[in-house]
Amino acid sequence: MSIYKDTEKYIFKTYKRYPLTIVSGKGAYLYDEAGNKYLDFIAGIAVCSLGHCPEIIERALLSQSKKLIHTSNLFYTIPQAELAKALSKRVNTYKKDLPLYKSFFCNSGAEANEAAIKLARKFNRKNGSNRFEIITFFNSFHGRTYGALSATGQEKFHKGFEPMLPGFKYLPFNDMKSFKKAINKHTAAVMLELIQAEGGVNIIDKDFLLEIKDICEKEGILLIYDEVQTGVGRTGKFFCFEHFGIEPHIITLAKGIAGGLPMGVMMAREEVANVLEQGEHASTFGGNPLVAQVALEVVSVMNKSFLKSVEKKGQYLIKSLTSLKERYPIKSIRGMGLLIGVDIENNEPTSIVGEAIKKGLLINLTAGKTVRLVPPLNVSFSEIDEFTNKFEDTLKEVLK
Ligand SMILES: *Cc1c(COP(=O)(O)O)cnc(C)c1O
Repeated sequence: MSIYKDTEKYIFKTYKRYPLTIVSGKGAYLYDEAGNKYLDFIAGIAVCSLGHCPEIIERALLSQSKKLIHTSNLFYTIPQAELAKALSKRVNTYKKDLPLYKSFFCNSGAEANEAAIKLARKFNRKNGSNRFEIITFFNSFHGRTYGALSATGQEKFHKGFEPMLPGFKYLPFNDMKSFKKAINKHTAAVMLELIQAEGGVNIIDKDFLLEIKDICEKEGILLIYDEVQTGVGRTGKFFCFEHFGIEPHIITLAKGIAGGLPMGVMMAREEVANVLEQGEHASTFGGNPLVAQVALEVVSVMNKSFLKSVEKKGQYLIKSLTSLKERYPIKSIRGMGLLIGVDIENNEPTSIVGEAIKKGLLINLTAGKTVRLVPPLNVSFSEIDEFTNKFEDTLKEVLK
């Protein structure tokens, strides 16, 4: 067990890890040191969107690494330009007559949100305006760097790191009254997750979103969607906002976009994007050719029929879970596509994860209580059946 010991000794204690050393993976399965097989419904926290070690990524990595791995953004590179164009086209696939969306590339979700915060403030400095305040919501999660952390409306993540960056206001999610009251002449932007994933898989009410959009439009306030977890096919559409039909000024993406390689993207409408000028924001690694080429492959896989299959599998998974509800004290099942949260009446929800591991199933908890299911997007129907059986065995054990 020297891996456990070395990890404890040489690595910061910031992660609570399950007692498993993963050495390899293929498709929807991971394997530990002893060769035990696990069905993976965590997928690197909604990151390995095409499963583990898919051939398409293996090939892209191999061929791109022979050509060019990194140059910095001092030069033009082909994969970055092609990826930005493909992402921009995705917005127009959803709606033809929308303005052009441009991309800024970075390396994580937090960084994409940092960029969005900077852009929102800079945009509002235009015309000498004094708007700087950004509204976010309780139970949101936007990342761990100072700007993104300040945007995160959960006190437990702020504790010990105060003071936070000034200029953030947190409001109750899906509460129109408090939203209307909170808007003032300093409001620069509203930043939200359409599904609060880390916060327990809480879906935004369409009426609430419509109201926000109307107010933002009227008052000239920027609307920012953090689609770091919901984006890139996770909910059965390329962008989750397509389900709601309300497009924002700024979108942030990360997790699933490069199938397991680190990449973040901030996309913004041209008129907004153009206020960040040369030298005002940068990332050394951002959009490097290796990662950009892989992301381009991931994005190309996600055509209409792929996205349709994500939707169908999500419905199938919800149906399977609903059938378990007849026999087990499941309080709630909610989600979109393959981002699903399940609440179980149980005093010790954490025991579910440990029992599931014993049954060869990897699942995790968010918000300390909700089982969050985010399998690879190309999971098969028979793997979903396998999940349902293993999950039922797990419930039997923990509810005994
Ligand atoms: C994971 C996540 C982040 C943070 O992404 P990192 O890559 O860990 O910095 C931000 N927003 C949302 C919605 C997330 O799910």
